[in-house]
Amino acid sequence: MISYFPAIYPDELVYSWLCRYYVHSGFFSSKSAMQELYCKRSDNPSKEFIGNLNPGTMEQIAKIYSPDKLVLEHTMYPQYARFIPLEQKNTALYRLGHDNCDVHHLFCVLPRSEGEQYLRFCPLCAEDDRKTYGEAYWHRKHQIRNMSICTKHRCRLVESNVPAKSEQSFTFCPAEHCIVYDETVFEEDQLMVRYAMYLESVFDAPIDFNKDIPVSSILYDGLSQTKYLKPSGRSRYTKMLADDLKVFYREMGLYNIVSMYQIQRVLLGSRSDFSVVCQVAFFLGMKSEELTSPTLTLEQIQQEQDSHYMKETAPVDWVQLDTNTAPILERFVQSVYDGTANENGRPERVSERLVYREMGLLGHQLENMPRCRAIFERYTESYPESWARKIIWAYQRLRVQGKPFYWSDIRMISGVKKKNFHSIIPYLQLHTDAETVNQIVALIE
Ligand SMILES: [Zn+2]
Repeated sequence: MISYFPAIYPDELVYSWLCRYYVHSGFFSSKSAMQELYCKRSDNPSKEFIGNLNPGTMEQIAKIYSPDKLVLEHTMYPQYARFIPLEQKNTALYRLGHDNCDVHHLFCVLPRSEGEQYLRFCPLCAEDDRKTYGEAYWHRKHQIRNMSICTKHRCRLVESNVPAKSEQSFTFCPAEHCIVYDETVFEEDQLMVRYAMYLESVFDAPIDFNKDIPVSSILYDGLSQTKYLKPSGRSRYTKMLADDLKVFYREMGLYNIVSMYQIQRVLLGSRSDFSVVCQVAFFLGMKSEELTSPTLTLEQIQQEQDSHYMKETAPVDWVQLDTNTAPILERFVQSVYDGTANENGRPERVSERLVYREMGLLGHQLENMPRCRAIFERYTESYPESWARKIIWAYQRLRVQGKPFYWSDIRMISGVKKKNFHSIIPYLQLHTDAETVNQIVALIE
């Protein structure tokens, strides 16, 4: 039976609150407290969310705080769910408050890099909290990704030795026990202070559960009028943006600078990570309100959505493509036909497949290109006709050498099979003089 839950402090993590419950209720060990609070022995406390609390615990908690309030004000939900689509946001809010589910199914949780492995604290906040409440606690805002300073005291946050990951940690680590006196280092870099304030204001802003404006549209709006978006609005210069952004944040000494790939995925709408969005928006000079209460019109959203598909649906100028391709195609098919394209000089049959492949055309495109089509048709021939030309070529080549030769020699260098010999005879006269025709036929017979 749950004895009593202390009041939860402003911006306190649910984890921190449960740690204090454990301390105040006089349990012998974390383990026994956990057995009382959670469903299964294998359940570990969640650092950033609520965890798999059993129905009895949930019932007790619901008497003092609503699940929505806990999720919105005492978990990292405002970071992870801030920019996800509306429906997903509602689902995540409900499921985090009512049933235990793997948060990775609700939104993307980026892996932790160096500097983000442990719960962080502000030495001055800990001091203040001890004065005001009689104990220290774990603050949510100190755990925001890439948050390196306390915005209230403008000093650097300190890493504790309590892992920020929930996995494989089966103990309660109350802040009061884990936060030891630490030297206070004030942040000198004003830009870093501004960045931290920015993260905080985005994190703290009320979450809009009515409008569903994709964050890709919001950033697209921020990109307009910058050199990172073509004036036509069709192309984003993501590489340039990623390069400039990297230089900017590296000088600031940020832990975790977003990659071009991450930026690209957010700009194209397939992801909406808090730290990626904030880094891009702050770099572009967007106000935090532009992110948290955007005022885009439906037309603006549509324009951005359409720009994802510009490349694929851009209409092809067939006349232009036909005109530009024709001379190239002519040279190419001629060289195939007369054999100059071939290493050994042997003429070849010009096939439609070869033309499509060499010209990089897509299925049936030749039908929209009359000039190219005409060129292709001029060189089109049947297989027997192309064999006839190969045999004439082989015959002439052997004759030039001035040595006696036989039918087998012609067969070998022309590549024409014996069973096809007779089918070529009618075509010989189309490509050579009567004298040569007679000599070739004499060789075959
Ligand atoms: Zn502080």
